[in-house]
Amino acid sequence: MQIGVHGLVFTGTFDEKGLNVAASGASAASFDLLEIPLMDPFAFDPNLVGRILSDNELSMSASLGLTPETDLSSDDKAVAKRGEDLLTRAIEVVSESGGSSLCGVIYSALTKYSQPVTPQGYRNSAAALNRLGETARQAGVELTLEVVNRYETNIINTARQGLSFLNEIAHENVHLHLDSYHMNIEESSMFEPILEAGSRVRYVHIGESHRGYLGTGTVDFDSMFRALALINYDGPMVFESFSNTVVSDELSNTLGVWRNLWQSSADLASHANRFMNDKIRAVKSIEDH
Ligand code: MN
Repeated sequence: MQIGVHGLVFTGTFDEKGLNVAASGASAASFDLLEIPLMDPFAFDPNLVGRILSDNELSMSASLGLTPETDLSSDDKAVAKRGEDLLTRAIEVVSESGGSSLCGVIYSALTKYSQPVTPQGYRNSAAALNRLGETARQAGVELTLEVVNRYETNIINTARQGLSFLNEIAHENVHLHLDSYHMNIEESSMFEPILEAGSRVRYVHIGESHRGYLGTGTVDFDSMFRALALINYDGPMVFESFSNTVVSDELSNTLGVWRNLWQSSADLASHANRFMNDKIRAVKSIEDH
């Protein structure tokens, strides 16, 4: 299983300097993979990303949240087209960086909607993701849709809604991305939804209820790790945490990161790495007997 960490644990900027900070930090905390937020994929040089990651012996994945200007579920065709163009470029960047996974809120804007998605917007997003799933397949990249809470999308807030949306998309290269922070807000438990989603879960974020140190909030990680073991989940599993110690204006403001939940990236990251590996190892001990 690849155990990863989100780049925003280390830096809020992803130019050459920021990428070096994130990659060396991930490597020092013994992670296998670095997830890079690709909010503007046109600003990335894939060769540079690929070189920095390989110098640090890390695998790469990328995530992004669309904006109201690039909302794939918009009824406005020009807006949806901008979203599809942005995601097409993001797939290229992941592929050319040597990565194999693009995740996040890539089916709607990452924003608080004030009304439900329209039936047409839902179908348009699914149809675009069917096309993007094929583009990604040809580039050797898998797409996973992050199920997030009601304040960040109006399309998929639960794993079950995610499965229905995958049926609408109908492409074998588009799967689900579950996140403990969002599950803790919307799901009935951390256990059954993972069993129900089963093999369609292809990417996991591990975050605490307040997005700080793992084990200091209300997320039931014990149930979650048992469920992941039961579906034979084999990764990636990526630690996600935000504090206004490290700020990316674009993403931090969208996610409402207003508090200082930690000061030291290095301590937070190595703690998270131990926490996840300890849970995986402990669950394995009951599986084997
Ligand atoms: Mn997440």
